[in-house]
Amino acid sequence: MKNIEIKDIKVLYSEEEIKTRVVEIAKKLNHIYADEEVCVICVLKGAIMFATDLVRELNMPLSMEFIRLSSYGHATESSGKVNAVDIKLPDLNDKNVIIVEDIVDTGLTAKFLLDFLNANFRVKSLKFISLLDKKISRKTEVEPDLYGFDIDDKFVVGYGLDYDGKFRNLKFIGYADKALLV
Ligand code: 5GP
Repeated sequence: MKNIEIKDIKVLYSEEEIKTRVVEIAKKLNHIYADEEVCVICVLKGAIMFATDLVRELNMPLSMEFIRLSSYGHATESSGKVNAVDIKLPDLNDKNVIIVEDIVDTGLTAKFLLDFLNANFRVKSLKFISLLDKKISRKTEVEPDLYGFDIDDKFVVGYGLDYDGKFRNLKFIGYADKALLV
């Protein structure tokens, strides 16, 4: 791992842009579910900031669950394999389920989760919401139902996303030049 410092990180989406987009996504969800009850599943650790900001803009009755998956090894490339670090969930039969992810990259994590839920429950409805969509790396046919921002071939950090465990606390989404990362 390279020793990246905050000064190496350029802003891609600012705090204000994120706030605006979170409210827009919440408005859509408030409209879709109206007074229906939902269960929001936050995929740790990366989606923590997005999920907690998003639920505070939602008006319907909801519960929250947290699961932990990992697909990144030690670098900035997906390992191609998803590990269910902690995926204990309550009975989700007949529930409206919203999965909240940080980023859909290869799509393997999203596919793993959707397959897992479909294999274990007969949910009433299922939506996959991602803060970011990195379409360029996709290796599956899974697409988020709603997402915040498109990103191209960048490794991003901040607002929940890390590099070597760091930078999750940045208020913006940023990136470092690839040359610094590899
Ligand atoms: P996928 O399974 O779609 O390839 O990857 C999903 C996971 O990889 C995300 O939940 C995230 O943790 C990690 N990931 C993918 N791209 C990036 C990135 O640009 N930055 C960071 N920090 N993590 C990423």
